[in-house]
Amino acid sequence: MKGQIKEKIAGCIGKIKQADIKIHSFLEIFEHRAIEKAEQLDEKVKNGDKQGRLFGLPVAIKDNIVIKGERATCGSKILEGFISPYDAEVVKRLEREDAVIIGRTNMDEFAFGSSTETSAWGVTRNPVNPEFVPGGSSGGSAASVAAGFVPVALGSDTGGSIRQPASFCGVCGFKPSYGAVSRYGLVAFGSSLDQIGPFAGNVRDIKKIFEVIRGRDEKDETSVEFEPVYALKEKVVCGIPKEYLNCSEKVKSAVKKTIEQLPKNFEVVEISLPHTEYAVGVYYIIAPSEASSNLARFDGIRYGRRIDGSDLIDGYFKTRGSGFGDEVKRRIMLGTFALSSGYYDAYYLKAQKVRAVIKRDFDIAFKKVDLIIGPTSPVIAFKIGEITDPLSMYLQDIFTIPANLAGIPAISIPCGRGEMGLPVGFQIMAARFNDGFLLEAAEKIEEAISYE
Ligand code: GLN
Repeated sequence: MKGQIKEKIAGCIGKIKQADIKIHSFLEIFEHRAIEKAEQLDEKVKNGDKQGRLFGLPVAIKDNIVIKGERATCGSKILEGFISPYDAEVVKRLEREDAVIIGRTNMDEFAFGSSTETSAWGVTRNPVNPEFVPGGSSGGSAASVAAGFVPVALGSDTGGSIRQPASFCGVCGFKPSYGAVSRYGLVAFGSSLDQIGPFAGNVRDIKKIFEVIRGRDEKDETSVEFEPVYALKEKVVCGIPKEYLNCSEKVKSAVKKTIEQLPKNFEVVEISLPHTEYAVGVYYIIAPSEASSNLARFDGIRYGRRIDGSDLIDGYFKTRGSGFGDEVKRRIMLGTFALSSGYYDAYYLKAQKVRAVIKRDFDIAFKKVDLIIGPTSPVIAFKIGEITDPLSMYLQDIFTIPANLAGIPAISIPCGRGEMGLPVGFQIMAARFNDGFLLEAAEKIEEAISYE
């Protein structure tokens, strides 16, 4: 007789195989690995062994988080054929608690993007309406949860890549405080901004995953041990930044309705984060600078694709020229330029100074309020192919980038619907390492609100 877990996992895989043709949320299903794990778990049940906290839970993993013995491409041709020799710390922690890794999900190439259209392996579609983008860069993970293929998935967020696709697909997506989750085994994009976090259908599941993946890991020196406090205060003061109401009418009205429905002990006050307008500019100096240096390792020698040239330099040119897509090349050029001697002070150093000012806006705000609330994205999902110029795409990140620059935790939960039933996301932020408080509040807000 088939064990129960094996049956459940086989069912989950069957559903993806049949229905993901339309969505393309997965790049690969780890059928063999998942079934083998399920069999082990059924054996545990039979023997009455201790069961992990995520026993039998199917999880999807973004293609930039490595799994031992499996491929990882970051949505790029340059990593074609690369097989990871080790596990990311988050993968280890999930498997230790008996989660079942189902497969790897599609993403914008190297996580540069807001629509999952720049993957070398084709676009992912929004399960709510397949003519629209799922958001990005973790669009595959968001779509895999929204389509009901898996209850939870992991993504990475450098400037909004968990929260924005969560908002576009109508699921929850959480970017923890910088340092809360180990980045060991996450292919680096902007090392001072990157965080791994979960997607799920509800905040309770987000908490469950966060509890398993968080905490100090000696392999990531920026990770810290802290005990999240999952408790609320008697009165929770929420600040709505006036700069965050500059968004589309549908988004604004969904956010306003949500604010009206907040639990009784939540008080709302208007605040200001006066340097919000500089966030996108600062991010698009710092993130490409860090990326240009992180991506130097893809040289055709150490990982994945290799195209031999007439000499070493020619080999680099050929490999990188053919392996990277346009957006990746654009970011590398932007970053290399900003870091080059003569321009370093004018761009990179200046951006770091403005980053400190933006962070200070939050420090000041959190002296007065417990939470900062507002829209996750100024818009709802757009059509595939609709946005073609990079600048318009970059401007999408205006409300999500500040949390990365400040290192604070932020979550997006669904709060309404706009045109054609496309979801709107509500963003909630808290002070650094108040992740427990934030998740507790998000759960209360999720409970209190209703929408058509
Ligand atoms: N859309 C942003 C960018 O293109 C954020 C990406 C991310 O968070 N990985 O850089």
